Amino acid sequence: MRRITLFGATGSVGQSAIDLIARDDTAYDVVALTGGRNVRQLAADARRLNADLAVTCYPECYNELKDLLAGTHVEVAAGPEAVAQAAARPVDWALSAIVGAAGLVPGLEALAHGTTLALANKESLVTAGPLLLGRAKAHGATVLPVDSEHSAVFQALVGEHMAAVERVIITASGGAFRDWPIEKLATATLAQASSHPNWDMGQRITIDSASMFNKAMELIETKEFFNVSPDMIEVLVHRESLIHAMVGFNDGALMAHVGPPDMRHAIGYALHWPERKHLPVERLDLAKIGALTFEAPDHARYPALGIAKRVMNEGGLSGAVFNAAKERALDGFIAGEIGFLDMSHVVAATLDKMSLDGGLQNAAITLDNVLETDRLARIYAGEAFSQLG
Ligand code: NDP
Ligand code: MG
Repeated sequence: MRRITLFGATGSVGQSAIDLIARDDTAYDVVALTGGRNVRQLAADARRLNADLAVTCYPECYNELKDLLAGTHVEVAAGPEAVAQAAARPVDWALSAIVGAAGLVPGLEALAHGTTLALANKESLVTAGPLLLGRAKAHGATVLPVDSEHSAVFQALVGEHMAAVERVIITASGGAFRDWPIEKLATATLAQASSHPNWDMGQRITIDSASMFNKAMELIETKEFFNVSPDMIEVLVHRESLIHAMVGFNDGALMAHVGPPDMRHAIGYALHWPERKHLPVERLDLAKIGALTFEAPDHARYPALGIAKRVMNEGGLSGAVFNAAKERALDGFIAGEIGFLDMSHVVAATLDKMSLDGGLQNAAITLDNVLETDRLARIYAGEAFSQLG
């Protein structure tokens, strides 16, 4: 039996993973499940999957989780440190599906124990890609992409040499506002930004899809994960979300990955890697689909893409600033403190301020530097709210 741990088990990606794992309970020995406020779901899954340990990242949720698991042998813990400690329990495979920069420390801890890490948490690559991948290398651990575009690129590269790669194209649906007049974007509400045309995902990534901050994160993720230069990476708007990414080679060939918009494909690929196994996802009927469409992204509509280019070119700790400022701006939009278009102004202003303050580009990407940069960027991003025009 393969020993596995799921970080962020109660979220959208975590639940899709559980859907796959629960179908074959003789194959997996579930060591730990972690979640946040949704302790009912966490407790139900810990019982169902017979987990050794259930952890909520919120200390105030400990008693409720403990009560829900009374009478079982499931151990209960709470707090961010307990989440990181869960990563020290030996397993063969772990899923990193926490949302936000909070996924970084548990991911690093899992890799330090040689665990194969299936990475949905893009924020940890954006914030500290070299640190995360360096940790994996130092401990002989493997990181597998779970974000659908990166899983697609990874699959297109099987058996290929990176030297033959000319470009990497990741696709974008265009999000909730792809057909809105640009002038109307400033009025977009939280409810409108929280619905995605093709994918069913957590609220934060859905809003990030509407602003294309999600694609901006994925550009940086591509650069970090595949170690390609920023000018080799492109975004292509593809409304149908059926081609997830393409790799262009030096002989002119484009290898495209086509599949249904269902995260269980990318999660399942990482779960069974290096093998391919049957997955319960829809089989596409291309004759019925008929046509696939492609458009160049409109940078005026999606300023986040330009900001990502800047971050990729600056490198160093600018990814940590970008991610933290984006998380703070998103909190602000969700809380009704700032408007939809203000998010990109806040992120750009925070990058400007912190570039001026001191060598973002040249600072070492250590955990201490990353955490301090993340802390400061959130403060500066919050301050930028009051300076919006
Ligand atoms: P959700 O918001 O649905 O789930 C997030 C999970 O993290 C939940 O288990 C949540 O607990 C937990 N959590 C929240 N805050 C913290 C914290 N501070 N510390 C520890 N755990 C926490 O997110 P998604 O599943 O949508 O996304 C997860 C990650 O995967 C993100 O990085 C996202 O960008 C990435 N991703 C998601 C895709 C998708 O289809 N959803 C596609 C590709 C990538 P609780 O809910 O119990 O409070
Ligand atoms: Mg994606």
